Amino acid sequence: MSATDDYLDRYAASVMNTFGRPKLVLERGEGAQVWDVEGRSYIDFLGGIAVNTLGHAHPALVGAVTDQLATLGHVSNFFATRPQVELAERLLTLMVPADVEARVFFCNSGAEANEAAFKITRRTGRTHLVAMEGAFHGRTTGALALTSKAAYREPFEPLPGDVTWVPFGDVEALAAAVTDATAAVVIEPLQGEAGVNVAAAAYLRAAREITSAHGALLWFDEVQSGMGRTGHWLASQPSGVVPDVVTLAKGLAGGIPIGATLGLGPAAALLQPGQHGTTFGGNPVACAAALAVIETLEKEGLLARAVEAGDRLRAGLAADPRVTEVRGVGVLVGVTLAGVDAPAVVAAAQDAGWIINATGPDRVRFAPPLVVTDAQIEGFLAAWPALLDAAEAAA
Ligand code: PLP
Repeated sequence: MSATDDYLDRYAASVMNTFGRPKLVLERGEGAQVWDVEGRSYIDFLGGIAVNTLGHAHPALVGAVTDQLATLGHVSNFFATRPQVELAERLLTLMVPADVEARVFFCNSGAEANEAAFKITRRTGRTHLVAMEGAFHGRTTGALALTSKAAYREPFEPLPGDVTWVPFGDVEALAAAVTDATAAVVIEPLQGEAGVNVAAAAYLRAAREITSAHGALLWFDEVQSGMGRTGHWLASQPSGVVPDVVTLAKGLAGGIPIGATLGLGPAAALLQPGQHGTTFGGNPVACAAALAVIETLEKEGLLARAVEAGDRLRAGLAADPRVTEVRGVGVLVGVTLAGVDAPAVVAAAQDAGWIINATGPDRVRFAPPLVVTDAQIEGFLAAWPALLDAAEAAA
């Protein structure tokens, strides 16, 4: 029996079956490359689903985590730590206009960041929420209530909320859905799990106008799209829209678990002492990791690099006629395929040493580390037509 089969059988016998059988057993990584327990290597164009901003084993991240853990690994929220305060200040400086007062709540994941945001919306005294078709906000019950896929939600109903669903990007539908009883509108400025759908800047601006007119909060879920992947700290920043709530996680600490909920303006003070909490939120190791990610993104010019790498990848992917649409910004890229099964393409890619992901039967997603090299992109693009051929042949 191979080492892979041995581990996967043991996984099946010991780990709860919420994810199905994993595809590989990975052992180590460096940059955008990973190796499995058989010693085979792969170029990782998924990056832990938009998490490994700096790739694998980046010395700056390893150093920051190691130093912080050797200094102070955890304290409760009865106490503050230097990395926690510095990270909150950095996030506000990078993501919030200087004249807007804002505060950060730290937690451990995207779903938790959204759960905190959900509770902020309840503090408006209203309960009605407007969410987008195709939205994914996480698996905890509040976040799940705002996640559009019925198969994820229905086994757990009744879920909290009083949610109206609107088509992503449709200004008229949004205007019709929001009333004076609406607590908040939640939007992913770039929907990731739906296969990478980009909200137009005009849509985000309209959402700001509509929510402001009704006294509702505007909440951007930037868990997947934030932290430089689009060439900006937030995918929504180029629109100029200032939301009331922003949620972050995934790439924030480059692979160390963390989430953050930013409250802007009056929304910064809606949660009062005792109304929310978490043991691990603001953990100094996670915050030191995030500070190292931010510093490295700046020092290595990786926001600009995200745009350049994404443009190169998108242009190459579009060259095959079986690709009918290429979407995305920076290194969050989705393609739609005609006549080729996306999961079969993912399987063919894995056999050939590339990790990519299918978000649906005809959609493939790429979310590589921002440190992915041109040679790695060109290598993948050279293989791309053959991967589509292999998927077609397997059908
Ligand atoms: N929000 C968005 C936009 C996401 O893409 C995800 C995860 O894919 C989440 C929230 C949930 O994050 P987590 O899996 O860390 O709970």
